[in-house]
Amino acid sequence: MIVAVALLLQQAVGQPLSNVTVRNGDKATTVSVSLSDRGPVVAADALAAALAGQIETRAPNEYVVAVAGVRVAVTAGVPFVRVGDQTLPLAAEPVVRAGTLYLPYSFVSDFLPRVATGVTFDTRRAVLQHQLAALPPPPAKARSLTVIVDAGHGGPDRGMRGPIGADWEIREKDITLDVSLALRDALQERGVSVVMTRSTDTLIALSDRGRIANAKKGDVFLSIHVNAANPNWKQPGAARGFETYFLSEAKTEDARRVEAMENEVVKYEISHDVAANDPLSFIVHDMEQNQHLRESSELAATVQRSLAKMHPGPDRGVKQAGFRVLVTAFMPAVLVEIGFGTNAAEARYLRDPRRQREIAASIADATMQYLAGYQRRANAASQ
Ligand SMILES: [Zn+2]
Repeated sequence: MIVAVALLLQQAVGQPLSNVTVRNGDKATTVSVSLSDRGPVVAADALAAALAGQIETRAPNEYVVAVAGVRVAVTAGVPFVRVGDQTLPLAAEPVVRAGTLYLPYSFVSDFLPRVATGVTFDTRRAVLQHQLAALPPPPAKARSLTVIVDAGHGGPDRGMRGPIGADWEIREKDITLDVSLALRDALQERGVSVVMTRSTDTLIALSDRGRIANAKKGDVFLSIHVNAANPNWKQPGAARGFETYFLSEAKTEDARRVEAMENEVVKYEISHDVAANDPLSFIVHDMEQNQHLRESSELAATVQRSLAKMHPGPDRGVKQAGFRVLVTAFMPAVLVEIGFGTNAAEARYLRDPRRQREIAASIADATMQYLAGYQRRANAASQ
């Protein structure tokens, strides 16, 4: 009991030590600085209110501090934060005490002035000044970008099931929908418009997925899938990892296997105007598609690189295959196999909502990185 009391005392945030003045434009607010077991701290919500920003709770102990034009992803107990695709150190870890997120004082005195535009800190007077721009900065892009997110399978087409030899199972169509919804949120947070080919458990013909993408004038098409091992492999249950495809004729036997698996849905489709046995080779000779292929290969490489930073499974690389879903999308288009549902550990990973959000964030980061390069190339080409 004594131990418990001591712990409680240690974990409490003490009475305010001093104050910091936060000036958002002309509006000044006093924010308390208190002492925690991790040093001086400020309450995140008080700081956000003073800067007309907000704190978003993502998961237990995970927050986004959105203030002064920056979004800082914070995890309690971790002295690193993420801003965009950068991981940056903090002088001390943020802490949660009695349900309130506290940020180290250096977040105000040092971190924000470094990462946010128009933010300065007067150390002597303890004043944080956020200079509001006279006019909001114009968006860097001429028009907003649209990403088409395609959750693989749906309705009667459940996709693959796994894992091999377990008494519980995942269905591909559920995982692809969950990850695609998380991907939609992650992309919207990054400022692009998102169109989903499906947002419920419903069957959409493969050719219609591309048609939706074209009608909505998508800039990028992302199709999300879960892989399944070939049962004839030596140890099918052991196969793990992630791979990203762009459209072409299948180059390897393994690519042909995945192509056949992902194209199989046509048997559920009542009408589709691309016959199942059409050779896809004409696509690669079309000039416009050639341009899309180069862009698709770049997009696939960017997605694959991004996933390699966080995915526990092996990097199976960028591959090419004749996916029907990619044929009709006249834009850079990739199909991501986010893992093997036939592997027990990977199936568990893929159905964990937190991991699903991580995968989605990784694909969203890659898409933004690709789009930035795409706009640079488009601008260079038009000059
Ligand atoms: Zn699939």
